[in-house]
Amino acid sequence: MSDVRDLIIVGGGPAGYTAALYAARANLEPLVIEGFNWGGQLMITSDVENYPGYPDGVMGPEMMADFRRQAERFGAEFVTDDVTAVDFSERPFRITVDRDEYLARSVIVATGASARWLGLESEQRLQGRGVSACATCDGSFFRDRHIWVVGGGDTAFEEALFLTRFGYKVTLVHRRHEFRASQIMIDRAHANEKLELKTPYVVEEVLGESALTGLRLRNTETDEVEDVEAGALFVAIGHEPNTKLFVEHLDHDDAGYLVTKPGSTETNVPGVFAAGDVQDHTYRQAITAAGSGCMAALDAERFLAAEEGHEGTALTAPRPEAAEV
Ligand code: NDP
Repeated sequence: MSDVRDLIIVGGGPAGYTAALYAARANLEPLVIEGFNWGGQLMITSDVENYPGYPDGVMGPEMMADFRRQAERFGAEFVTDDVTAVDFSERPFRITVDRDEYLARSVIVATGASARWLGLESEQRLQGRGVSACATCDGSFFRDRHIWVVGGGDTAFEEALFLTRFGYKVTLVHRRHEFRASQIMIDRAHANEKLELKTPYVVEEVLGESALTGLRLRNTETDEVEDVEAGALFVAIGHEPNTKLFVEHLDHDDAGYLVTKPGSTETNVPGVFAAGDVQDHTYRQAITAAGSGCMAALDAERFLAAEEGHEGTALTAPRPEAAEV
């Protein structure tokens, strides 16, 4: 493919789709290479209660479909596949998807982050056989079982509360007595009689041959080990940025998160911008990802206008035929 596009957005989550919406409205005709599993982490989230504009809450997948449709309405195009390689060493930038190559004057990286695992061989072997990182996807398989969740952040609490719909009992196990989760989640957990908090323990082994049957827990204060019966284990211990393809080209921190210039979405490569969780390990909210996606589109539009005399419509100005109120 030899056409050079103004803007390619890699990643289809709140950041990528918001960037696509703004860029499409500025006539940059963005191509979004959204990933085979588009939608990002919100596709494995149940109720979203804290995204402004949805006073009654919304399901994560429904919200992502809304984001995508809104970008599509203004002409954003989509490739529903995963990027396999990038080359940011010269312009135009090259982005490869299997045997197809795409060229772009500017790129927004919005590939997000993925669930982290404990790293046990037994955990990996029993994935899909009782071990999961997605309560929304797999919770209903474990009706009337004793379900365990590991982690002490908002994700772990959210998953544990959701899983009380299915399990006869849910136990959240965490390695310290203190939780990172917000107080409202902790209060909800205390108020839920099906939910028990077990601290300070780590999961040392996942037990079972062909399916999960139990867990080996170790008390982190006394080192005492105990085996417990388990019908399911949900791992909710945080995330890692999806930056494997980019770390060769773009500055990143020790954890792999892309580094952007303070107050902007610029990376160390002029014309390449980063938005959303791929560059944010602090806030990691749909709303902050969407906000930085907007910033990236504005930054890309200004870059193109300055560098290449691109005649884009000002991003902040509404189209005459579709002026907002
Ligand atoms: P966090 O990083 O906040 O929490 C991860 C948890 O997992 C910590 O309690 C950590 O323990 C524990 N952990 C990490 N590694 C291990 C390990 N190897 N073994 C055992 N435990 C481990 O991640 P979350 O995914 O929970 O949240 C990420 C962000 O998303 C946060 O900002 C959160 O507020 C937000 N969020 C908001 C939601 C909402 O508002 N509805 C819902 C979900 C997430 P330790 O504390 O000891 O380090």
